[in-house]
Amino acid sequence: MQLNKPKLNSGDTLILASHNKGKIEEFKTLLKPFSLKILTSSDLNINDVEETGKSFKENSILKVKSIPNEYVALSDDSGLCVTSLNNQPGIYSARFSHQNGGWQNSMKIIYEKIINEGGGRFEAKFFCSLSIKFPNDLIYSYNGEVFGNIVWPPRGENGFGYDPFFIPQGGEKTFGELEHQKKIRIDHRSVALKKLIKSHLNDS
Ligand code: IMP
Repeated sequence: MQLNKPKLNSGDTLILASHNKGKIEEFKTLLKPFSLKILTSSDLNINDVEETGKSFKENSILKVKSIPNEYVALSDDSGLCVTSLNNQPGIYSARFSHQNGGWQNSMKIIYEKIINEGGGRFEAKFFCSLSIKFPNDLIYSYNGEVFGNIVWPPRGENGFGYDPFFIPQGGEKTFGELEHQKKIRIDHRSVALKKLIKSHLNDS
């Protein structure tokens, strides 16, 4: 039985529990048709939380809980999972990059690991868990994933993070080469966001 889930209406305020410019821009674009008032963690002077969870979902819940109870808030925890590397870097995607001096270097390290430890198998996916929190700690989580392959060398200037060395299944362009508006409509975040929109957003 489907219980009535809390909804957001046009004009309502939604806090994006994130400091990641790439993600914030994607959410703002995809949520534009709903005319919400969108603020972010920075607008409320709230710092990033420590990601101590053991899964994307646990981390997205930790993030959304960083926003004070009176607000409706949305968070995302996402990352790149390489099948032949036991789904690494996974929940450590951002930390892997910070520890290895940025995206370019960490993409190179992942590529070399696939060659040396992953038997040259390049299948990968981007995974995302979104959580939305309504007052009284009512939290709902939705997952999205997009399958594809790692390519070398990285290609394209669009997007962020690991976009330039990932080609979605059935495509030829990397996420870094795809037109930005196109990428954000097929990626893991938009898959999860469509589920969330269906459950929690009224059109007008
Ligand atoms: P989070 O902020 O802890 O969820 O870190 C997510 C990390 O995963 C990002 O910093 C990127 O490294 C990677 N990531 C997630 N989504 C994407 C995407 O759409 N494109 C490229 N990299 C992504």
